[in-house]
This record gives sequence, C-alpha cells and structure tokens, in this order.
Amino acid sequence: MSESETDQPIDVAVLGAGIVGVSAAYAIRERGLSAMLIDRKAPGEETSYGNAGILSSGSILPLNRPSLLSALPSYLTNQSAALRWSPAWTARNLDWVLRFLANAVPSRVKPRAAALHGLIGASLPLHRDWIVRAGEPQRIRETGWLKAWRRDGSAAAKDEQAWLAAFGIKSELLDRQAISALEPDILPVYKTGLLHSQTASVDSPGKVVKAYAKMFEGIGGVVRHAAVKALAPDSAGWRVMFQDALIRARHVVIALGPWSPDILRPLGYRVPMAYERGYHREFTPDPSRRLMRPINDSDGGFLMTPMEQGVRITSGVELTDRDAPSSFAQLDLVVPLARSVVEFGEALSEPWRGARPTLPDSLPMIGPAPRHSGLWLAFGNQHIGFTTGPATGAAIAAMIAGEQPSFDVAPFVPGRYL
Ligand SMILES: Cc1cc2nc3c(=O)[nH]c(=O)nc-3n(C[C@H](O)[C@H](O)[C@H](O)COP(=O)(O)OP(=O)(O)OC[C@H]3O[C@@H](n4cnc5c(N)ncnc54)[C@H](O)[C@@H]3O)c2cc1C
Repeated sequence: MSESETDQPIDVAVLGAGIVGVSAAYAIRERGLSAMLIDRKAPGEETSYGNAGILSSGSILPLNRPSLLSALPSYLTNQSAALRWSPAWTARNLDWVLRFLANAVPSRVKPRAAALHGLIGASLPLHRDWIVRAGEPQRIRETGWLKAWRRDGSAAAKDEQAWLAAFGIKSELLDRQAISALEPDILPVYKTGLLHSQTASVDSPGKVVKAYAKMFEGIGGVVRHAAVKALAPDSAGWRVMFQDALIRARHVVIALGPWSPDILRPLGYRVPMAYERGYHREFTPDPSRRLMRPINDSDGGFLMTPMEQGVRITSGVELTDRDAPSSFAQLDLVVPLARSVVEFGEALSEPWRGARPTLPDSLPMIGPAPRHSGLWLAFGNQHIGFTTGPATGAAIAAMIAGEQPSFDVAPFVPGRYL
C-alpha cells in the first residue's frame, strides 16, 4: 500500500483550477473544510485565461434563442466570422445540435434567462468582493460593456433592452454621437449601441484567477500541480489518481471545464458537451487611441477588450472537436475589422485558442452527480464562465456543507442530462 493510501482523507478535492474550481475551493475552505485544488497547470491558464474578461450583468440570453434560428441561413455557407462549424463534427454530433436548436424556440428562452439571471446575480457581488480581498481591486473596471452595430441595429438593441429591463438590468440605447461621446478614440463606424452599464470587466482574467488561488492558499488551502488520471469510489469517499500517486477525499468536485466529460466517462456518465471554440490575439495599444471598455461588434462577430498588455481581439464560435487543429480563419477576418474601429500596433503574441464548454440548454451543471455520493459537478459555463465561476463554485461549497445556495440551483441539476 502506498503511503498516501494510509493517509487520512481530506474533506474535498477540487479538480481543475480555472475560475470555477478556484472559486469552489475558496468557498469550501472558507467554510472550514480541508481542501486541495488540483490542476495539471498553474491556476487560471486555460479557458479562464484567454477569455474577454467581461463580468456581464446582462448575458442572461443564451446563444440558442430565436435570433439564432433566424440567423441559421447566414451560417450555412460557413463563411461567417460569428459562427463556423465543421461538417464532420456536425454529422457526428447531430444529436447535440438538434437538442441545442430545440432549446432556441421562444417558449424555452424565459426560464433559462431567469436561471442565468439568478446565477449571474449571485456571482457579480462575489467577484466584486473577492477581487478586493485578493488585493487586486485595480483590475476591475466598472465602465460597462458596449454592444455595437455597424448597420441600423435599433430593433435588435431595443429587443435586448426590453429583455434586460424585464429582469431589472439597466442598459442605455445609443446613437452614433452618443457612442463617440462614450468612446472618443474610436472611429465612428457604429450606428447603434447598447451600453450594458452594470457590466464590469477585468484587465487580466488569468491573473484574477491566480489571485483568487493565492487567496485560497492564504486561508490554508493546498494547490497541487498534477494531472488527474482517474477517479474511483472507496469506503472513505474517493481516490483521486495521478500518474504515480493518489490522494483520498470525502468529496470530489469536477471543475475541469471542457475536459470534464473525459474524467466522468469511466464512471458511466456521458456528458452532452460541445466545444464552442474561440480564439484571441493581443496587439500593442496605441497610447493616443484608448478603448475605455470592451466592445462587442455585433455585425463583425467579434469582441475587443482593453487588457493589461494590449488590445485583445476575441473571435466568435467554431463548432468542432475540442482538440482539432486550430483554424485562424475567423480571427484573420476580424482583426482588420477591429483596426477599422480603433488603431493598434503589432501582435504581442501568437493566437490563443480555447473552448467554451456548452450543454444543449446553455446552462451549466451545478450539483451532485446522480449515481455517486460525494461527487459534485461544476462545469458547462459556456460563454459566461468567467462571470459565473464564483457563484458556481460557491453553490457547490454550500451544498457540500449542507447549506442552501444563494440562488435557485434547480435549473442546473446535473440529473437533467445524466
Ligand atoms: C474566446 C472566449 C472568450 C470568452 N469571454 C468570456 C467573457 O468575456 N466573460 C465570461 O464570463 N466568460 C467568457 N468566456 C467563457 C469562459 O472563459 C469559460 O466559460 C470559463 O473560463 C470556464 O472556466 P472553467 O473553470 O470551467 O474551465 P477552465 O478555465 O478551462 O479550467 C479547467 C481546468 O482543468 C484543468 N484540467 C483539465 N484536465 C485536467 C486533468 N486531467 N488533470 C488536472 N487538471 C486538468 C485545466 O488545466 C484547466 O485549468 C470566454 C471563452 C472563450 C473561449
């Protein structure tokens, strides 16, 4: 028997140190339980590193909604910057595609918007509190998020504004002049804008996750750098197995983002996850042309965010296998479009690729695995995982401690798919 097999089990092993896992680990440790956060990389170096850093109050409408159905014809030629799809992947994953599209009908939007509103509403105060506690308050900017249309987007903007207003979320409809007043250094390419005024953003999502991980260590949590190979139930709870070692834990939290299905499959769970891949590239900023906030170019199908190092351009969705070779076609299309909005210099780095983990209803799984006690699932946070990570993690911590989470977790129950 190895030495670790004789050790006392820890209370909770959290697998994955992205925003979800780090948040879960911190919230668990805050409750006085012993906790180990395990990742094959340092915290915050995968999906939670490369996102656009938006802490969105208003992302309550999932991508699969009626507007997706009406836009489908424009995606058929596979030339759109907003959405590309692999025909081979689509043929192999037709079941996921049909379930995803079935959720886009009008009657299925409101309940999911309400669910996401609860999750987002619980998460933003945690981010705003934790970033201060973590000693990095300067990273958060309360300047909102601008959605902008080159053509007349007033119908789409008003529709979105009405949805936001129904949930008490503030936004401002802007014309060309108002956009210029808000963003004086950009060129006047946008005709319509919708400012999500209660949305914040950070200048380095990876560093924010690292700061939260440090905060976890500061209250006695342990971070272990190791790749998890397998999980097995045992009398005390769980064995978490690495290449040549193992640990024992009473509870295990799966927060492996897009890699979560891999570890669950040997336990008999087939997670219906697709990978909405996305890319980013950063460019040296022009100091005389400053972006004040993230801008979503709706017609261009991309986002640009001012980051610590430079301007980060993030691409739309590429539906394909998680590990398929990169294709920079979408990024190549949108970088010149971004240059037509704000001037910036040379690329600071090679393009980055990540995968948004998405389930057919665009809601994450937050809760207990249906057939194993002490196994907790926290993944599938799609386009808004950086925003919703803290509340996802805190809800898992509450459930492990036998407390009521601070928002309604019923829509996120893993048993709906497993
Ligand atoms: C281009 C793009 C832009 C985005 N923009 C935004 C945005 O502006 N706002 C927002 O809220 N969200 C955004 N998102 C979504 C957000 O980034 C994700 O939903 C979120 O980061 C997912 O976090 P996670 O903790 O679940 O996964 P991850 O951050 O991927 O963490 C999973 C961790 O598991 C580890 N791991 C995997 N397998 C193993 C193993 N076998 N052993 C040990 N460790 C393992 C990985 O190393 C990784 O650190 C964006 C995503 C993309 C791709």
